[in-house]
Amino acid sequence: MNYTVNSFDFLIVGGGVIGLSIARELHKRGGRNIGVLERGHVGKEASWAAAGMLSPDIEADLGSEFHRFCRRSLEMYPALAEELKGETGIEIELDRSGTFCLSFDDDDSLREIYARQIEDGVRVDLVSSSDISKAEPSISQSVCEGLFYQSNWQVENRKLLQALRTYCELNGIRIFESMPIESLMIESGKVSGVETADSRIGAENVVIATGAWTSLIKIAGSTFPVDIKPVRGQMIAFKPEMRLIRSVVHSSQGYLVPKRDGRILVGATSEDVGFDKVVTTEAVERLYSTAVKMVPALDGAEIVDSWSGLRPCTEDKLPVIGEFPGYKNLTVATGHYRNGILLAPLTAVVIADNLIDNVSFRYAFAPSRFLGETTAASV
Ligand SMILES: Cc1cc2nc3c(=O)[nH]c(=O)nc-3n(C[C@H](O)[C@H](O)[C@H](O)COP(=O)(O)OP(=O)(O)OC[C@H]3O[C@@H](n4cnc5c(N)ncnc54)[C@H](O)[C@@H]3O)c2cc1C
Repeated sequence: MNYTVNSFDFLIVGGGVIGLSIARELHKRGGRNIGVLERGHVGKEASWAAAGMLSPDIEADLGSEFHRFCRRSLEMYPALAEELKGETGIEIELDRSGTFCLSFDDDDSLREIYARQIEDGVRVDLVSSSDISKAEPSISQSVCEGLFYQSNWQVENRKLLQALRTYCELNGIRIFESMPIESLMIESGKVSGVETADSRIGAENVVIATGAWTSLIKIAGSTFPVDIKPVRGQMIAFKPEMRLIRSVVHSSQGYLVPKRDGRILVGATSEDVGFDKVVTTEAVERLYSTAVKMVPALDGAEIVDSWSGLRPCTEDKLPVIGEFPGYKNLTVATGHYRNGILLAPLTAVVIADNLIDNVSFRYAFAPSRFLGETTAASV
């Protein structure tokens, strides 16, 4: 075993949108001597594969603590976009055109959602097929009606990752790539650092932000006791010559996300296939026909790209954010499942509130909910 000379005040394991956002926030709040350890290349896993939608009102159960968490995180985006532009010169392409949720079948489900959301105070409009055609003329004439969410936005997540990485590089946050962490070192009931196959790195505070791979990390010789499953999402992209849609468009079968560079992303599958990231012909065909059903002008258009990513999913599909019971200097920020891009800003703030300002976690996403009777001492 090689002992490295590095020892960090804050060591973040995992360089996706969550790990990088936490590194930046810790630094902005005065944290120093920060390291990010990444198994492969920073920002090339789920955070890169995502569509960049910021849709709290479509993704979260309304009225829930999770919905409030999603909304608060969304509201941080305009300031975040401005700050990152100033800090790094990179424009993360926050697009506030809004999001449609459309019905192509004559059923009442959207009306039920509308009634419930209005009661819950969500800003949503019920829109007729002619309203939709006026706003988005390329949407299929077979659309029946829809909901429009002016305050559900999108961002270019790959630019966001680039900006976060640049922030780290400009501010002395050390990034180590090709550095897979295998286990956490424990000394006198405290996490003293992390181990790779052939080295050890010391740390005062460790943050686990390893997305879909979290359960593979060992702690005190045992499997990490928070069960995170990878859920594969496959996507395709078109780049039509004309701009066909302006807003994000959802239907029951999938979604279309128009990007500033002219691409339209089409997503996504949701598959329980372990860590396999292969793109399948079947999924590509299904996404293609979903896109054509929603926007017939895409029929015959070339697919310019296809990819997949692994969403980190917990048993209850909620994130795991907070102190690991029994180890005050071990924090977990993972399990963001379908909403990690949306939730990155607020996740980073609550972790920094705790690590820099000693504020306890106030949300119901604590790792302890999965540990039952198990205590840190017994894992
Ligand atoms: C197809 C698809 C579409 C999506 N669309 C959206 C969307 O529109 N909006 C939205 O909000 N969310 C979306 N998501 C979800 C979002 O991408 C994830 O919730 C988010 O990226 C999770 O971020 P993360 O940093 O936890 O994970 P990741 O980006 O996967 O980062 C985790 C990092 O940890 C590293 N790592 C793992 N194990 C180790 C180890 N042992 N040692 C060192 N490093 C390690 C990995 O290599 C990886 O780089 C989508 C996901 C997919 C797959």
